[in-house]
Amino acid sequence: MLKVYNTRTREKEDFEPLDGNNVRMYVCGPTVYDYPHIGNARSFAVFDTIRRYLEYKGYRVTYITNFTDIDDKMINRANEEGITVTELATRFIAEYLAIAKQLNLKPATVNPRATEHMDDIIEMVDLIIKNGIGYEVDGDVYFSVPDFKAYGSLSRIPMNQLSSVARVEVDEKKRDPRDFALWKAEKPGEPSWESPWGKGRPGWHAECSVMGKHYLGLPFDIHGGGQDLIFPHHENEIAQSSAAYGIEVPVKYWLHNGFLTIDSDKMSKSEGNFSTAREVLDHYDPQAVRLYLVTGQYRQPLDYNDKAVKQAIQSLERIKNAADAMTGRISILEKIGSRETEADKKLADATRKVREAFEREMDDDFNTPGALSEIFTFVREINTLTSDVGGAAVLREAMAVLTELLGILGIAIGDDALAGEGEGQAVETLKGVVDFLLELREEARVSKDFAKADQIRDRLGTLGIEVMDTKDGPTWKMS
Ligand code: AMP
Ligand code: ZN
Repeated sequence: MLKVYNTRTREKEDFEPLDGNNVRMYVCGPTVYDYPHIGNARSFAVFDTIRRYLEYKGYRVTYITNFTDIDDKMINRANEEGITVTELATRFIAEYLAIAKQLNLKPATVNPRATEHMDDIIEMVDLIIKNGIGYEVDGDVYFSVPDFKAYGSLSRIPMNQLSSVARVEVDEKKRDPRDFALWKAEKPGEPSWESPWGKGRPGWHAECSVMGKHYLGLPFDIHGGGQDLIFPHHENEIAQSSAAYGIEVPVKYWLHNGFLTIDSDKMSKSEGNFSTAREVLDHYDPQAVRLYLVTGQYRQPLDYNDKAVKQAIQSLERIKNAADAMTGRISILEKIGSRETEADKKLADATRKVREAFEREMDDDFNTPGALSEIFTFVREINTLTSDVGGAAVLREAMAVLTELLGILGIAIGDDALAGEGEGQAVETLKGVVDFLLELREEARVSKDFAKADQIRDRLGTLGIEVMDTKDGPTWKMS
C-alpha cells in the first residue's frame, strides 16, 4: 500500500484517490521570468518521479503544471529588458520546455498559463466578494483573512501570530495586515485586464486555485510544490477555493519538496547563490543530473555540490556498465546457444527481488534513495553473475526490469527505453509546436496581421494539420 506524507495532516497516510483509479494532480510550475535554477529543477524532477510511480502502479494520472506568466517579477524583468511580458514569457516557457526535455520530464497533460484564465480568475474573485470574504478598495480587491475562520489549516500558523511569524505585505489599504491581494488595480506601464473593479491584474495566488478547479475539478487528489510555497501561496489557495466554491478541503494530499541547498543555504535567485539548470545540464550528463536530483528523499534538503554530482555520474556509469555487460552476454549466447546454469536461477531471483524491494521503498512516501540502493544491490548481482548466466531470456528479463525501474526515476538506459519514450515525447512535442503556432496566429489576428495568420493556417494545412476555429478558440486535428 502506497503511503504519502500529507502536509495538511502532518502524517503519512494511505494513498486513496478520490475517484477510483484516476489521480488528479497539480504542481506549481515556474514563474517564467528567468532561467530556472537547479533548485527549481529538483522540484520538477521530484514530482515527475511521483507521477511516474503512480502510473507504474496503474493509476491514470492527469498532471497539470502551470506557468506563472504575470506577476511583479515578470513585469519588472520585462521593463528592464524593454520587451513585453508576453515576449518574456514566450522566451522562458521555451527555456523551461527545453530543460524539461533534458531532465526527461514527462510532458504535462496541460501547462496552463495564468493569462489564459482571466475570466475564471475574475469570476472567483467576484464569488469571494459575494460570499462576504473579500472587499474592494480603489480597484484593489483583498481577501479578508479574519473572516475566514479556517485560515492557517495548512501552515498551522495561529491567526494571532500571523503578523509576527510570517512576512505579511504592508499596505495601508488593507483592513487587516494579514489580508492578501486577490486583484491589483492597474499601475502605469503594467499589463492589465478589464474587470468589475476596473482594469487590473490578479494577485499571485489566484491563478492556482482557478486552474486547479478548471482542469481537475474540486476537490482533487494531489497538490505539489516546494516547501516555500506552504505559506503563503498554498495557504491562500485553500482559503480562496474554500471561500469561493464552498469546498472545505479542496485538495486531499499536499506534497512539498525540500530545498536544494548550496553549502546548506537555500538556493534562490534573491540570494544570488544559484546555478541555472541550463548551466548544470550543459556541464554534466543530463541523465546523471536527473539521477542526482533523486538521490535524496524528496522532503529532505539536498545539497548541491560538485562531489554529489560526480558521485551520480559514477553511479550512472556503474549502471550502464552492468547493462552493457548483459547486452554483450546476450549476443554471445545468441551465437553459442543457451544452457541453463546455477547463475540463471540466482539472477532470476535477484530480478524478482529488486522489483519487490523497489516497490517497498517507493511505497514509503517515494523513498528514492532507498529505491536506488536496491537498484545498486541488483547491479552488483548482475556484475557478479552475468558472465556465468547461460540463458538469454533471463538476461533480457533482468535488463527489462532494470530499465523499467530506472525509467520510473526518469533515467532512460538502453535503446529500447529511449525509443519508447521518444515516440510519446515526439507526439507531445508536435502538439506543443502546433499549439504554439496557433498562439502566434492568434497574436497575428489580434494585431490585425491577417496575412500572417492565414499563412500559418495554410502552412499547417499543407503539413496535414487542419485548423478549426470554434467559439472557444482554435482547435486542430491531423487531417
Ligand atoms: P518558482 O519559479 O520560484 O515559482 O519555483 C518553481 C518551483 O520550484 C516551486 O515549486 C518552488 O517551490 C520550487 N523551488 C524554488 N526554489 C527551490 C529550491 N531551492 N529547492 C527546491 N525547490 C525549489
Ligand atoms: Zn501555485
